Amino acid sequence: MYGTAKGSRRTRMQMYKPKGKMKGRILIIEDEPDFVELVRCNLEADGFAVLDARDGERGIELARKERPDLVVLDLLLPGCDGLEVCRRLRADSITRDMRVIMLTAKASETDRVVGLEMGADDYVTKPFSPRELVARVKAQLRRATDDQTSPKTLRRGRLVINEERHEVSYDGSRVDLTATEFRILALLARGAGRVFSRNDIIDAILGTQVAITDRAIDVHITAIRKKLGRGGEQIETVRGFGYKWQDVPGE
Ligand code: CA
Repeated sequence: MYGTAKGSRRTRMQMYKPKGKMKGRILIIEDEPDFVELVRCNLEADGFAVLDARDGERGIELARKERPDLVVLDLLLPGCDGLEVCRRLRADSITRDMRVIMLTAKASETDRVVGLEMGADDYVTKPFSPRELVARVKAQLRRATDDQTSPKTLRRGRLVINEERHEVSYDGSRVDLTATEFRILALLARGAGRVFSRNDIIDAILGTQVAITDRAIDVHITAIRKKLGRGGEQIETVRGFGYKWQDVPGE
């Protein structure tokens, strides 16, 4: 179909990377075929390779086997739903670090928060424009690349955390944090946009303080906010759930 056998491999590769380097492999887990095709066309047109699974079990299996760079996960699936799929991806060492963008038809704040709490990196509400989804996919993959290229230095706009030297600065000014405050801030900043419950935070810092209460977390958060000055506003309280680091758009 694409000419000689010698030339066919090159032609096939060009199909997957129309704009130079292939950008990454995306797994779509969604049961509605029309929707899968719409998302696939848009991602492929932008240079992504796309895999798909029509139910949660098959999705988890493909994620483990194919190790895509990012998973687009629908909340409403037959059998094992999107939240459960997300929880299982996060619990498995092979799939734990994959970026996950969750899709849902429900627009309520509670669903959004629960989705992020279960470990999704971003959240898109149906109906949405395919271009918007592609933009979100690219943003997540950029973030994943940043994490890989400088594992010791984490940048979130004006916030810079050097995990090796245990140093924090905000807008160029050094911020002195206690060891516990440092761990909490690093946890929130690493998972920017995701809500961490007080229990998540306690689990993450158990190495330094074994006996710690929910109330103590609130006290640490208050101290971190105060020390960060204007940056303290980027630590948001999500009532009834916990805390999250909110990036400032454009920074
Ligand atoms: Ca669905």
